[in-house]
Amino acid sequence: MSANTIKKAKKLVETGGVVKIDDDLYQIRSSSDPEKSYFVTSDSCECPGFKNFYKFHHGKGLKANCSHLEAIRIFKQES
Ligand SMILES: [Zn+2]
Repeated sequence: MSANTIKKAKKLVETGGVVKIDDDLYQIRSSSDPEKSYFVTSDSCECPGFKNFYKFHHGKGLKANCSHLEAIRIFKQES
């Protein structure tokens, strides 16, 4: 995962962009469009980056990641 993804994730957590809705369900603000937000669980995300990952890396056994999933990880560590 790129350092940029982690940086973006940290910023989302620091600016209150992560809201816990339920056990393993979070609403996370889009970092590119503040009007938009995504519903994210610990292993899936609605954002285009996450979906594209599987499109491009299908069948390679890789796990998709995005700044939102990373933000949840940081959020859980801090709370
Ligand atoms: Zn995402």
